Amino acid sequence: MSYHPPASVAGALRLHYNENTAGCSPAVVAALGAITREEAACYPDYAPVTRRVERALGVSPGWVQLTNGLDEGLQVVAMWARNAHDAPAGAGRPDVIITEPAFEMYDERTEAVNARLVRVPPGADFAFPLEGLLAALTSRTRLIYLTDPNNPTGLSIPPGSVETIARAAPQALVLMDEAYADFSGRTSIGPLLDRQRNIVVGRTFAKAYGLAALRAGALVGHPDTLDGLRRLLPPFNLNLAAVRALEAALDDRAYVDWYVGETAISRERIYGFCRRHRLPCWPSDGNFVLFRLGPRATAVVDALAARGILIRDKSAAPRCEGCVRMTAGIVEHTERALAALEEILASRGC
Ligand SMILES: *Cc1c(COP(=O)(O)O)cnc(C)c1O
Repeated sequence: MSYHPPASVAGALRLHYNENTAGCSPAVVAALGAITREEAACYPDYAPVTRRVERALGVSPGWVQLTNGLDEGLQVVAMWARNAHDAPAGAGRPDVIITEPAFEMYDERTEAVNARLVRVPPGADFAFPLEGLLAALTSRTRLIYLTDPNNPTGLSIPPGSVETIARAAPQALVLMDEAYADFSGRTSIGPLLDRQRNIVVGRTFAKAYGLAALRAGALVGHPDTLDGLRRLLPPFNLNLAAVRALEAALDDRAYVDWYVGETAISRERIYGFCRRHRLPCWPSDGNFVLFRLGPRATAVVDALAARGILIRDKSAAPRCEGCVRMTAGIVEHTERALAALEEILASRGC
């Protein structure tokens, strides 16, 4: 399966990608405008910005590798998995494990390196399938993609599970995708990464920081582990615009704090809407909420799109029959979307 970005409508309210609906900090745009002709002509030096990201994430020098969006980080661990598996002739393809429902990119990156995707279904109500995942481990397992909090459910992984998995699979890398950690306030970054050196945490500045178009992400892990991944990256993987944007965004912490506060209020508005309409929903630690509209889901998503409001139809995802995912951005946007949804449901007599 390859990743097909959903169709976009010009000028629409985009609540289908979990982007920052307020845009990036104004300081970012100012920093982009300040790039000089000479700077644009030189290959970038990543050392200063890498140090700043390391400080922001509370890790020592050498523990961060910047990537061209987190997607590049997801790609490079898949390449590692492929290479790490090459040894015994005829060993077949390496296994890459995901837990369902998962971010679509893992599937695509696994295919890109010709590895075998092993899907572990969730428990009831999307409970994290620790036992199922442990049972799926084999000597061929080289990579496990975990998402905390998960996309599309918004559910966090129970504490301790990640370490249990990493210990049980020393032959594999565990990529902890923390794309939404700025919203959850939880992270695996800390002493765990020193204890269990096969865990690499992935972060992105696309979501809370609003830099999706500029492409800036980071891998965080023990320097020895990162060295094995650095070899697989091109030397100039971020452009200067991403570097400057990242520095300016990190400097404007107040902006991110404000935005995270907006998303928390928005989530509550969406839960309230779901309660009033008796729609099952899941408590989210991210900037989005998954809820179940039932068989009408696709028609409702289309009706919203006709009004210029885009949300994500997740009906086709495993265990997500009839579900949609709506980004919880700034409160004004959430209210606008919920008002339109209210009208659509009323007109359909539900
Ligand atoms: C958005 C998202 C990413 C991609 O981040 P980029 O930095 O834009 O590449 C990775 N993982 C998950 C779970 C996401 O939702």
